[in-house]
Amino acid sequence: MNKPVIYKIKGMHCASCASIIERTVKKIDGVESVSVNPGTENAKISYDQNKTNPEFFNKQLEPLGYTLLSSTASDMGMSRDEHTAHLGLSQTKKEKLAELSSMKSKIISAIPLAVLSVFIMGWDIFAQLQVVREMPLVWEEFFHHLLPIIATYVLFVVGKPYLLGLYRFLRYGKANMDTLIGLGTSVAFLYSFIISAFEETLFAAFPNLSGTYYDVTIVVITFIALGKYLETRSKIKTGDAIEKLLNLQAKTALVIRGGKELELSVNEVKHDDLVIVKPGAKIPLDGVVTEGSSFVDESMVTGEPMPTQKKVGDMVIAGTMNTNSTFTFRVTKIGSETLLAHIIQMVEEAQNSKAPIQALADKISSIFVPVVLVIALIALGTWILFGTGSLGFSQSLSFGLVSFVGVLVIACPCALGLATPTAIIVGVGKGAKEGILIKDAATLEKLHNVDTVIVDKTGTITIGKPTLVDIGLDTEFLAALASLEKKSEHPIAHAVVQYAQENNLVVHDVSNFENIQGKGIKGIVGGTEYFAGNATYMHDLGLDFDSTEVEQFTVQGKTPVILATKEKVIGFVMVADEIKKESKQAVANLHKLGIKVIMVTGDNEQTAKYIASLVGIDEVVAHVLPQDKLATIKELQSKGHVVAMAGDGVNDAPALAQADVGIAMGTGTDVAIESAGITLLGGDISKLTKAIKLSKITMRGIKQNLFFAFIYNIVGIPLAAGLFFPIFGWMLSPIFAGFAMSLSSVSVVLNSLRLKKMKI
Ligand code: ADP
Ligand code: MG
Repeated sequence: MNKPVIYKIKGMHCASCASIIERTVKKIDGVESVSVNPGTENAKISYDQNKTNPEFFNKQLEPLGYTLLSSTASDMGMSRDEHTAHLGLSQTKKEKLAELSSMKSKIISAIPLAVLSVFIMGWDIFAQLQVVREMPLVWEEFFHHLLPIIATYVLFVVGKPYLLGLYRFLRYGKANMDTLIGLGTSVAFLYSFIISAFEETLFAAFPNLSGTYYDVTIVVITFIALGKYLETRSKIKTGDAIEKLLNLQAKTALVIRGGKELELSVNEVKHDDLVIVKPGAKIPLDGVVTEGSSFVDESMVTGEPMPTQKKVGDMVIAGTMNTNSTFTFRVTKIGSETLLAHIIQMVEEAQNSKAPIQALADKISSIFVPVVLVIALIALGTWILFGTGSLGFSQSLSFGLVSFVGVLVIACPCALGLATPTAIIVGVGKGAKEGILIKDAATLEKLHNVDTVIVDKTGTITIGKPTLVDIGLDTEFLAALASLEKKSEHPIAHAVVQYAQENNLVVHDVSNFENIQGKGIKGIVGGTEYFAGNATYMHDLGLDFDSTEVEQFTVQGKTPVILATKEKVIGFVMVADEIKKESKQAVANLHKLGIKVIMVTGDNEQTAKYIASLVGIDEVVAHVLPQDKLATIKELQSKGHVVAMAGDGVNDAPALAQADVGIAMGTGTDVAIESAGITLLGGDISKLTKAIKLSKITMRGIKQNLFFAFIYNIVGIPLAAGLFFPIFGWMLSPIFAGFAMSLSSVSVVLNSLRLKKMKI
């Protein structure tokens, strides 16, 4: 499988466009998969480069009215301008704005014309009802000749995209929403034109032939174009999260080279360069503070509202803002490696992904257009066939025509295609703003059903930086323990090593080091084989260890590290980890959403229970090996629970993958973004509630959108077809059909935009 490439598409108008593009590209030899998102107007294509290429795709697509533009895959190795240009973001936006203003001027010309024709039509209706007097004959004659001229202008100038859609349908057999509108309005126009041209002959043959339908052409096109304009204008706003993130990237950096301060473009800065950041300046790249200290506002990246103090040794993040004083940092990450670059790429990919809930809408809109064409033809045929008997041919022909046009106009699947992606774009963007990174739309969708959250202890509920608190070992053995722990990555090991460093203990070389998953470590120091770990480990080794010895400590939430040789237990030290200040509130908030919180840890049961009781966690599963965390999740899932697992992502990767939603706690800049469905920046567990709320409001938004989209069609199509005419005498004018159709797309996009302002 080749890695998919993302292209921007020009010329897309709606969901049926997406399915036409998908079907056309899928047929090309060498294409493995293609997915088009009508919300972002991007195509994700993976293909065999030896067999085909984007030029060939365009050769197939251009006759249908679409063009693929350069890849949008972000590669922050370039300068920001290059990158944005490459991404096609500002460029396409500029194009979109240009398109928007040309749409606007056409609409401005069409609206007075539409109002005039509604006025003429209204007068006519009211005159028939004898509310007003008949229009003076001179006027009537004047309008009689004016309307065809107006209709010609509106159809051929304002309605040009729809006529092109009709042309493509006739030429290539591919129909999209433009085809429906084009066909409907031009049939109305043609019918009217024939009547005007052969007026005398026709009226002689069919005395009660109805009048012309120029007003239908004029008003429907105006409405649809107005709706399209409003929709496009709002749609630009749904995607502005990425643009805001791109704007966070600083363009230049103040680098010290050869003892001098140089202002360089960020893409000239290298690893290990020293960069000076003045108060009020943006931090240009990721790095570690080497000199000075200052408060840094990281809210734009992590969502953390309070500025955080950065001292020597602390990490700083590109795109954040220095507030009060000058400091220097050493660059550790450049270009596409920075956290900001990862975030941008992730948001972009997530906004382009498809939520499972969209599958139904996609399926419907792909068969919608042909189905609607058939329904419209059936309506026309039925009117003529069965209406002629009671209404006479000319009357039933004109009713049939009204139905035909009405069905075509109201049935456009535009809103259906926009329902899911616009809400996902807003949801993902809103999450990024809060420091909640969502991998894809499917994750966002799954999250709203979560009823159980499993949390790891160390690093999730606690800070993850334990310290040595009680020492029951001689210096000699403590040094041996520190030597062993120096080889380990576990947070506990850091506590021991740090203590040794602070107290200038001499660490020795270690041979035959081994990590015993979930239990401890072993190795040879100075010729003696040592074992260090928890009580289970000691029992496994067949050593006699009385657990009651450590109990007075474990009930206080401390964790023992027991040192032993093959023969006997030597003694133990205790480490303690501080609970994160937000943990308690976070658990309470999850409870408010009706979610059960379970702590699963490899640690001692008493230690775990003590910590759990402090933060209000419902259940504790202690003494679990990493592989058993997986089993715990599987068991919950088999009982029908939807499980989210929050862990540090390092040794919990399999459990994170097994959970319905894996949540990684991102700390500093080393975020294992790819490993989890959701990353909470700043390692802040309280963001989990926000993420779940975000998922809930996004899903609610999508469902409302789908409802808006469907209801217009479900009610509109039979109404427009005249199904209720024989019973109630109801008939939908094509003019209202056009109005309803525009309203449905506009309401869907506006409803998605509304999500932006909702509190989470
Ligand atoms: P958790 O991530 O929930 O702490 P782990 O599987 O990482 O679970 O660890 C389980 C237990 O194994 C720890 O609580 C500790 O008692 C013991 N352990 C693991 N690694 C070490 C180590 N390097 N030194 C001492 N004890 C260790
Ligand atoms: Mg762990």
